Amino acid sequence: MTTTRRDLLSAGLAAAGAAVTANVVHAQDHDHDHDHDHDHQDLPSDPALRVKALESLMVAKGLVDRAALDALIDNYEHKTGPRNGARVVARAWLDAEYKKRLLEDANAAIAELGYGGTNLTVVENTAKIHNLVVCTLCSCYPWAVLGLPPLWYKSAAYRSRSVIDPRGVLREFGLGLADDVEVQVWDSTARLRYLVLPQRPAGTAGMSEAQLAGLVTRDAMVGVAKVLPPQGAHS
Ligand code: FE
Repeated sequence: MTTTRRDLLSAGLAAAGAAVTANVVHAQDHDHDHDHDHDHQDLPSDPALRVKALESLMVAKGLVDRAALDALIDNYEHKTGPRNGARVVARAWLDAEYKKRLLEDANAAIAELGYGGTNLTVVENTAKIHNLVVCTLCSCYPWAVLGLPPLWYKSAAYRSRSVIDPRGVLREFGLGLADDVEVQVWDSTARLRYLVLPQRPAGTAGMSEAQLAGLVTRDAMVGVAKVLPPQGAHS
């Protein structure tokens, strides 16, 4: 017997059906005597259904262990994310020796702070050089320090236009660069990912590492934004 992909999906959808049916019943039984300040669309979206179906199938077939899956999801929800990268950037701003190590061997330097698992190169923004990170082929991204990539990073428009017209793309992100600033575009691969070390903004003298890290955004570490001075500071 041959099993097509459609068969697998149908079987998975049937397996996920119990939960869906429960939601439909809930929607039909719903008491409508109250204010409608919530969403009555209780059916999961199509991609969510597909994921549920595939997960059910893979667990049923013994291809994945539910505990391992939970550990993976927990890792991306709670342990990785742009706060890690922000801490790396803040440390580099405060500690010139750390910054030197970071630019020379980013993997060793981020391991000092307990992060790793990504073959990373850090590129530094200066008054004359602005770095922009893209993955033209797909969506390679420095997960260990930035977490999961935003949707726009994976879009065909960003992937193609960042290389053809980086200044135009940056303008659309609200970042206008002076003509004498050189834009360097870094194309990530599965083997090598990039993190931008943004310029430290004015008005941040005397700030702690945690305070500085609080200013650093994901977008600044991809290179589509600058780190802004703290509110109320004179830039
Ligand atoms: Fe990629």
